[in-house]
Amino acid sequence: MIQILHNKMLSSKAYMDIEAKYGAKNYKPIPVVIKRAKGVWVWDPEGKKYLDCLSAYSAVNQGHLHPKIIKAVKKQMKSVTLTSRAFYNDRLGSFLQKLCDVSGMEVALPMNTGAEAVETGIKIARRWGYRIKKVPVNQGEIITCNDNFHGRTTTIVGFSTDPGANEDFGPFTPGFVNIPFNNTNALEKAITPNTIAFLVEPIQGEAGVIIPDAGYLKKVREICTKHNILLITDEIQTGFCRTGKMFCFMHDDIKPDILLVGKALGGGVMPVSAALSSKAVMDVITPGSHGSTFGGNPLACAVGEASLDVLIDEALAERSEKLGKYFLEGIKEINSPLFKEIRGKGLFIAIQLTDEAGKARKYTEQLKELGLLAKETHEHTIRLAPPLIIKESEIDWALSILKQVFIG
Ligand SMILES: *Cc1c(COP(=O)(O)O)cnc(C)c1O
Repeated sequence: MIQILHNKMLSSKAYMDIEAKYGAKNYKPIPVVIKRAKGVWVWDPEGKKYLDCLSAYSAVNQGHLHPKIIKAVKKQMKSVTLTSRAFYNDRLGSFLQKLCDVSGMEVALPMNTGAEAVETGIKIARRWGYRIKKVPVNQGEIITCNDNFHGRTTTIVGFSTDPGANEDFGPFTPGFVNIPFNNTNALEKAITPNTIAFLVEPIQGEAGVIIPDAGYLKKVREICTKHNILLITDEIQTGFCRTGKMFCFMHDDIKPDILLVGKALGGGVMPVSAALSSKAVMDVITPGSHGSTFGGNPLACAVGEASLDVLIDEALAERSEKLGKYFLEGIKEINSPLFKEIRGKGLFIAIQLTDEAGKARKYTEQLKELGLLAKETHEHTIRLAPPLIIKESEIDWALSILKQVFIG
């Protein structure tokens, strides 16, 4: 039997062994144990230092343990942390106001995880479809894209096209239709009188940082408006400065009808998510029709507000734009024969490997050995998405590691 003696330092291997013994195997982590973190850096129990180029799937855009966010957490923990929505609390209003301000949306419904924000968006859209658009009840259709990633609930995995995500988890919620991503003709063709909404990631994150053609979202907006269907953008990963703007939809100068946010809204501390829309759309949600025990709790609101403040005060959108270009050009210059394509927007970058290169996992493990943490997505893609506070010198260091692995 493996014994964990608290306060006693164990080796990385011992931590991995006990997790493997008692944990469900729903992940296959890179073999590194993180015991401490600060900014863009993390440390293992042996004291080895790594550059974090995943940022917890963009949930740590502000960097680990950002002093402003941690200060807000500590302060809030001295007054009140959880009230439930049965009562008002003194933090929710100003947090939602700030979130609406930065996004240009009118109202917000706070939840916790990203998947809950997506579920919330689906519920808002369906009610709007039946009550406002007057689609026959229970006949509504929501269009989604092939290779989407919107979370892990049974409804959401039901419209995933990844067998790894939904095999043997059915039967699934009906009312979803899939079309190819980055294809506005397919969108127009898929629309029927019963179509309520189009749910899309402005850049497909988990699919491997798949960037649509310029103007795609603008055209999508036009089509949705023309056919009176709601445009729901899932910015859970692309939001909060990751792609060089506060939200990815801002590159196209459009506005979605429903905006879904999460991940970095929690500043790397706790799950904080929301669905935002106009007041007219959100009004279909009435008391008792939706909610969450933890959604909008005062601690989450304090974290959310501080997380937004950091993004604004440190101009992380501009930083992401500028350093993203620098990182992308640097990777292109490595010019490895193993690279098929390098793509990115802001500090949201993917290296697509050639088929001859073999599986990406081999390279992410080598990168880890040299002190750079990144995760493969699907078999041949490596995503690089460091905290947005990364410095140019740290990118230079990352480039030197990439060069060692991909050139030798
Ligand atoms: C991560 C993610 C989600 C799900 O968020 P969770 O907090 O893991 O539930 C949904 N949509 C997108 C685009 C994501 O990247």
